[in-house]
Amino acid sequence: MPQTTESDEHKALRSAVAALGNRHGRPCNAQELWSEAGKLGYLGVNLPKEYGGGGGGITELSLVLEELGTAGCPLLMMIVSPAICGTVIARFGTDAQKRRWLPGLADGSRLMAFGITEPDAGSNSHRITTTARRDGADWLLTGRKVFVSGVDIADATLVVGRTEDARTGRLKPCLFIVPRDAPGFHRRPIDMELHAVEKQFELVLDDVRLPADALVGDEDAGLLQLFAGLNPERVMTAAFAIGMGRYAISRAVAYARERTVWNAPIGAHQAIAHPLAQAHIDLELARLMTQKAARLYDAGDDAGAGEAANMAKYAAGEACVKAVDQAVHTLGGNGLTREFGLASLITAARVSRIAPVSREMILNYVSHQTLGLPKSY
Ligand SMILES: Cc1cc2nc3c(=O)[nH]c(=O)nc-3n(C[C@H](O)[C@H](O)[C@H](O)COP(=O)(O)OP(=O)(O)OC[C@H]3O[C@@H](n4cnc5c(N)ncnc54)[C@H](O)[C@@H]3O)c2cc1C
Repeated sequence: MPQTTESDEHKALRSAVAALGNRHGRPCNAQELWSEAGKLGYLGVNLPKEYGGGGGGITELSLVLEELGTAGCPLLMMIVSPAICGTVIARFGTDAQKRRWLPGLADGSRLMAFGITEPDAGSNSHRITTTARRDGADWLLTGRKVFVSGVDIADATLVVGRTEDARTGRLKPCLFIVPRDAPGFHRRPIDMELHAVEKQFELVLDDVRLPADALVGDEDAGLLQLFAGLNPERVMTAAFAIGMGRYAISRAVAYARERTVWNAPIGAHQAIAHPLAQAHIDLELARLMTQKAARLYDAGDDAGAGEAANMAKYAAGEACVKAVDQAVHTLGGNGLTREFGLASLITAARVSRIAPVSREMILNYVSHQTLGLPKSY
């Protein structure tokens, strides 16, 4: 296991999760792994103890996801259910919402998806038009979402809408828990070229009637509430990418030690060894930034965590794409066979460059917010 500056407690958590992941191995049955990880307390390690969680933070949760990914069995829904939805409910939900949702999200027996992306807004979430309007004590929610993961297996989806400020252009987001079988809530799976157990869905919300307590947090709290969920999402996506990258490199290294076509194993050729070493360094650097972002978030520094989480997600996405590319190349023809199972990671690795915020949007953010350059869009 790579060296870290982590506490003994975190190292012990890493080894315990790694052992669980390795027991399941790749290809793994995600449902079985989810249920076992939930029972062992790993899925809710970030949630408050009084609601069945482990009382830790995103630091611990991201470590769990990274180690499962390193073992070849990443659980994408961890990014969504405990990290985004669990955090938002724990921070802004009512006592009743916390009692209703957190114990199940913590032990993995309940799942919540998260929908913000819209077909006509994409990266520009200020342009979302899913609109909530009041009807007596109820809310009526209307709009469309796209690429929302795991809606079929989730008990509910946390949907980002806006109240009727829709035409002002300034987003005042509000978050609603929409049960999977709510009347008017339609889903259609998107045919993705991605080998993953979690499916992506296009959603249509057609005057979905929701009770007053479907609203999480304050309808006027705006972006603060939303970013309480989006920063953990970025940290978790970084951990997802680092895990996948580490898995790919470990497979490539094992192969390069054995495969011999001249006089020595191919790993003795620097043209094979150096790019693997570089990929390893990039993953380690990305992990340091991810740990920084997680610690800032857990310390309550939302602004600092925002910048660090963006940078960590960027670095991890780039490192993952490079690591997978080099791993596939190391295996030669076997890099593209089903038996070795690395080629499908080429597509999967790209996800961390695109979602939840693309590399270009992070570069825009850093140019503008960190460096103070003029905004280009
Ligand atoms: C596997 C997968 C799972 C997902 N799961 C979820 C989920 O659970 N919930 C959810 O809400 N969403 C989910 N998403 C959606 C994801 O967050 C979006 O795909 C992402 O935000 C990008 O939006 P878009 O696809 O509309 O791309 P677009 O916004 O159309 O961007 C297309 C390209 O243009 C570039 N671009 C756009 N604007 C600029 C600019 N100003 N400057 C420079 N370049 C720019 C982008 O970087 C990108 O390369 C998922 C996506 C994938 C692929």
